[in-house]
Amino acid sequence: MMIQETAANTKQAGPVRVRIAPSPTGDPHVGTAYIGLLNYVFAKQRGGRFVLRIEDTDRSRFVASSEQMIFDALHWTGLEWDEGPDVGGPHGPYRQSERTEIYREYCDKLLESGHAYRAFETAEELDAERKAQMGAKQPPKYNGPSRRYTQEQVDTALAGSKPYTIRLRVPQGDAGVGTASTTFRDELRGDITFDHFNVDDQVLMKSDGFPTYHLANVVDDHLMGITDVIRAEEWISSTPKHVLLYQAFGWDLPRFWHMPLLRNIDKSKISKRKNPVSLVYYRQAGFLPQALLNFLGLMGGGMAQPTEQEIVSKGLDTRLIDIFSLMEMVERFDFKRISLGGPVFDLVKLKWMNSEYLRALDAEAFFQAMRATVFSDAYLRAIAPLVQTRIETLGQFGDLTDFFFKDDVMPAPELFVPKKRTLEETLLFATEMLPVLEAADWTPTSIDAGLRELLTAKEWSVKEAFGLLRVILTGKTASPPLLESLVVFGKARSLNRVRRFLEQQKRFQASANRK
Ligand code: GLU
Repeated sequence: MMIQETAANTKQAGPVRVRIAPSPTGDPHVGTAYIGLLNYVFAKQRGGRFVLRIEDTDRSRFVASSEQMIFDALHWTGLEWDEGPDVGGPHGPYRQSERTEIYREYCDKLLESGHAYRAFETAEELDAERKAQMGAKQPPKYNGPSRRYTQEQVDTALAGSKPYTIRLRVPQGDAGVGTASTTFRDELRGDITFDHFNVDDQVLMKSDGFPTYHLANVVDDHLMGITDVIRAEEWISSTPKHVLLYQAFGWDLPRFWHMPLLRNIDKSKISKRKNPVSLVYYRQAGFLPQALLNFLGLMGGGMAQPTEQEIVSKGLDTRLIDIFSLMEMVERFDFKRISLGGPVFDLVKLKWMNSEYLRALDAEAFFQAMRATVFSDAYLRAIAPLVQTRIETLGQFGDLTDFFFKDDVMPAPELFVPKKRTLEETLLFATEMLPVLEAADWTPTSIDAGLRELLTAKEWSVKEAFGLLRVILTGKTASPPLLESLVVFGKARSLNRVRRFLEQQKRFQASANRK
């Protein structure tokens, strides 16, 4: 196999085509909007096409409601795509689960050419191999006997109906085929070389007949004519495998642009523990999409700030030099300016920016923005039945429902610690509640089932557990029905409220310990 290839093989002529390829595994992520924005701007600057592809081949992580949520959230941002599962286009289908035949066909070609092979090892055998390698302080990497099977051995295993995966044959120097490294060009970083010692024989096709991300992604990027792969830097270590696949098929490489990852304030990779990451949260909490895009556009430093001279000559307000529209971003964003230090997703700055956008609306537009979100008909319609039997006058509506309209409720321990429990026990239980709520599919039944399982295991009573969650959500010990209220308030915002509660309590405890 020829493997020492670089950007010299990148022969991308014709109009630019870019894509985002989110996987429907949960709430649409703010990182998808960030990468989506960069792809959108890249395409618009070059008269190219922006494609949305749904990568839904990982059935174990598939969440049925997620795809629609991705469409809705991305439409909300205003980043319209030219081709995609919902809008169609000449290179469809754009949903990978509808393309499995295509992947099989291409995988067969790799089997025929010897770039891939069937691996018959069982999960237990693979596990034992991994443990042995870790014990010997070697990188865990497949090296099972199937890699060296003769055709006869393969035929015997197939005749015995042994299940198998199909793996990429990553050339190893010691086997005497090709060189043992792959180099590719990253447009922001220059050439990157991976020694094959660190590149696993990637599974391309699972035993359930579904392709892995790597195979499907490369086949689709090629068939969809993608010229520039603009994605987050966490995919850099996958890229040598992709490059080997392009080469095995004899295809030209796209250009690769790996964007710096969004970071929490403490510079760790952005995570829901430290920042809301669901786009649904930002929408429901009343951020304006233009403000969010503007903020995301600042990440990575691609927008050139006006010079001193421009500020003076154009009379710009220096306080607002970071404020720009999507159109302005298309005009002025420069991919070559992107700096690779991790951009910090600073919620305080985003809120400031949002406030500037709100302030700039005229009174009617501001009212309409409220009516479209925090006071929408749909929201009020969902809340109304929860209080209809609990109020004497309509004027009391607000008394019972204030928590639906607040950004936060921060209850005091007198309210949330059950009588027979300590503060520590209660916070521990609240911490354990979080993953249970995260796993629920946000219907009253699923939340109820999850909570009951947890409280039984932890020997909490229903009253204690539901009472705690009620106070965390509403700030009060009495409220409209809890499960329905959680559903109406929404998963993203409810989870955020629980996380903020825990964060705040942690801070309280830390400061109490210091005293
Ligand atoms: N499906 C991958 C994701 O969820 C796509 C990564 C890529 O752009 O190649 O982000």
